[in-house]
Amino acid sequence: MTELLNVDLAVQRILDIFATLPTEDVSINYASGRILAQDIIASINLPPFANSSMDGYALRAADATSAHTESPAVLTVTMDIPAGTAPQGSISRGQAARIMTGAPVPDGADAVIPVEDTDSEWTAGDDIVLASSVSLFQAVKVGDNIRPVGEDIHIGQQVLSAGTTLRPQDIGVLVALGYVNIPVIRQPRVAIISTGDELVDAGEPLTPGKIRDVNGYTIAGMVGTYGGIPTRLPIAKDTLEAVRGVFRDALALQPDIIISSAGVSVGTYDVVRAVLDELGEVNFWRVNLRPGKPLAFGQVQGVPFFGLPGNPVSALVTFDVFVRPALLKLQARSEQAMSGSALTAEDINSDGRRSYLRVRLIEEDGQLVAHTTGTQSSGALMSMVLADALLIVPEDVTFIPRGTKLQVRLLRNPGL
Ligand code: AMP
Ligand code: MG
Repeated sequence: MTELLNVDLAVQRILDIFATLPTEDVSINYASGRILAQDIIASINLPPFANSSMDGYALRAADATSAHTESPAVLTVTMDIPAGTAPQGSISRGQAARIMTGAPVPDGADAVIPVEDTDSEWTAGDDIVLASSVSLFQAVKVGDNIRPVGEDIHIGQQVLSAGTTLRPQDIGVLVALGYVNIPVIRQPRVAIISTGDELVDAGEPLTPGKIRDVNGYTIAGMVGTYGGIPTRLPIAKDTLEAVRGVFRDALALQPDIIISSAGVSVGTYDVVRAVLDELGEVNFWRVNLRPGKPLAFGQVQGVPFFGLPGNPVSALVTFDVFVRPALLKLQARSEQAMSGSALTAEDINSDGRRSYLRVRLIEEDGQLVAHTTGTQSSGALMSMVLADALLIVPEDVTFIPRGTKLQVRLLRNPGL
């Protein structure tokens, strides 16, 4: 029996052939969730002008240092500054300008007093005439209720770094700085192939002996979750002609990765293997893991190719362990946020292969505890449905007592 390939070594061999995809510009309307390709340096100040953070009166603080209810300071109102306008003049000693939140503070003024601290009464939507004077019931200090130029962001400041998964707040900063198109990493295109005479597509009736193509959809979901653009090819029958045809169609999509499921078991003749031998250079590995020992990896006419096992849980676990890191590397995204550790909730017997058990993570006494989810068979999809994570039982052990701390891979999108 040939030796089983170590999981980490397999991942390393896979990652070796992937490099970051090129940059493209995307409209800011579609940039959320994309990976920023460049550092962003502010070319303007934000706010771009000093403005009022209150509805009130702009004034010179020196004119109101001792104002209070019993002895109000009285100033002459010289202008009105609604939001979105430029002040028509400046403020001198003894003067004030009515000002709205967000409106530019006029030259000469160095503070704003809120309307509540004056004798003014404004009502919403009111087109009231400007009073000729205002009484101030509170003292103010220089800078009160003024948002200075560049308080948020100053020219030359680095605001975002390359590799960031853009969140709504990042988009907000980009639009405020004037961006319309954002340089992002191109999304990996992934062609997905399902093969098998037993498979019918979603929505088709189940005639005797048939099952629905689950893997096509779960793999497409995984690809989308980790930033790729999936395309499912029509199901291919187990004939040389059909499998050749579907690989040809997959290649025509000019994908960055082709993924097939089923037909990679070592030792059994399978049309998928025969076609791969014709079209590419693919290694059929026996990897030291469970579930998912058989794995094919290589290239088909220059396109990186993964042949995942057919059992739905094996397909998902091997996707998570082998394909996900490749997808993230294509996008220059980090995997760090995807791992953690948890205590085992029960004794675990193992067969010496590295096992990825499907677990729910439950916090107990401040510790994350990993509970296996239902039937752990490689075809039992509910174990994945219920899982928060994959618990990694290391290779070369046969027994792990309850309460042992083990690594987990989180089954959630790390981007956010
Ligand atoms: P195979 O590798 O072709 O021997 O398939 C292994 C197991 O996975 C068999 O039980 C198949 O019916 C099942 N299987 C293969 N492809 C799929 C698929 N796309 N969706 C669901 N089950 C599948
Ligand atoms: Mg099959």
